[in-house]
Amino acid sequence: MTQLADPTDLDGLRQALKPLDPEGRLKPLGLKRVVISGTAHLEVAAALREALGRPGSASVVILTDKTPILRAGERLSALVERQLANEYSARVACLDDGHENLHADETVLAMAAEKAKGADIIVTIGSGTMTDVGKIAADRNGGIPQVAVQTAASVDGFTDNVSVILRNGVKRTVPSRWPTIVLADVVTIGTAPLKLNTAGFGEAISLFTAPADWYLSSLLGLDTTFHPAALAILQAAAAEPPGWASGLAAGEPASIRELTRLLAVRGIVSGVADTTACLSGVEHVISHMLDLHHAAHHEAIGLHGAQVGVASLVAAKLWRHAIEQDLIRPGLLNKPDIATIEARIGRAFGHLGRGIVEECQRDARAKHAKVIANWDRFVSVTGDWQRHAAAFGELVTPAETLRAALRSSGGPSAFPKLDPVIPPGLARWATANCFLMRNRFNLVDLLNMMGLWTDEHIDWALSDVMEKT
Ligand SMILES: [Zn+2]
Repeated sequence: MTQLADPTDLDGLRQALKPLDPEGRLKPLGLKRVVISGTAHLEVAAALREALGRPGSASVVILTDKTPILRAGERLSALVERQLANEYSARVACLDDGHENLHADETVLAMAAEKAKGADIIVTIGSGTMTDVGKIAADRNGGIPQVAVQTAASVDGFTDNVSVILRNGVKRTVPSRWPTIVLADVVTIGTAPLKLNTAGFGEAISLFTAPADWYLSSLLGLDTTFHPAALAILQAAAAEPPGWASGLAAGEPASIRELTRLLAVRGIVSGVADTTACLSGVEHVISHMLDLHHAAHHEAIGLHGAQVGVASLVAAKLWRHAIEQDLIRPGLLNKPDIATIEARIGRAFGHLGRGIVEECQRDARAKHAKVIANWDRFVSVTGDWQRHAAAFGELVTPAETLRAALRSSGGPSAFPKLDPVIPPGLARWATANCFLMRNRFNLVDLLNMMGLWTDEHIDWALSDVMEKT
């Protein structure tokens, strides 16, 4: 493993990034330390000293929710509180909004900020939502430091500078801040509900597909966030297929450590690159389409990572096909017609309401304008596809490798196995129309532009992810 893919050595990572970013365009990496070990939970007192820059006598608020998180039979919050008793004035504050799982909406954010009032530092104990709430509570209390005790490997948000919150019932990613120190105890994480860790694994494997969409979009002049240093981190992180996935179901520390590390690298790269585009391609828009459908029908929204994992198999299949076959040829390029696209959006999203149609059309117009403005790049990139295909080949792992890993992790590897179940018709709708949502450009946009996004091609792309068993 190179230093670019080791979040537990942040100084080494910063050093490795320096020569790759001579102009200093990357955002500063605001984390002080990430610990991923079997004893990280015992390092809270030391982390507080480091985060505060001075020993003892500070007021500490430990934010947690009502989910009882146990470490060797004892509640983790009690264990942490006891650890701090001699040196600090520490209090545990439990956030309870009446929901089974905490909702990161304004009520909870205000509650967290209020509970942290007067504290010199915040300790959060929990999964992604708790960490994200803690970032905002720290921000609203004058930017006091935060030590995040990570209890599941469910998302990549433990090590980034944004928070996923709920606004009017819809998930939004908003800028917040980096936690100061992240402590990931692999034993506690190994006992988290399996569906959380396998969802984290689904999210993690988009590392083996999404960077290709980001690179494609930047080659075509449509994405200006591209940075070679960020690509180098992504490549270092995805250098080896995740052969350790089979240990996740049993909570094996070595596998949990690898998963936690990959997710931490993802958080860091999106933070320093100041964009989620590097980690969000075809697979993410398919997942967003499913969320859109469920939200519009007031149905439960599935775990993001679990959906992304299945959709990554579709993305990898499409990408490898475009890399290995003589598919992309400049002669097939046709300038898209915005009236046709808008009409198609109307047909695809009309049943979800006028507001959604208008939002997608607005995004499509912005994307279309950029495509037309960069048309010469489309001609040159498709004209030199064989050369570019070699570079894409480095960024995309074959679907079969990813499927085997996803299966051995114990996570869902087909749409009907997701919770809530995604029936074939919905999976097909989400995939067929994924390029009509959001203003980012990905491989499916290009296939559509070349007349290759046909019913036949879509059915082929989905043929391995529709089985129930
Ligand atoms: Zn994601």
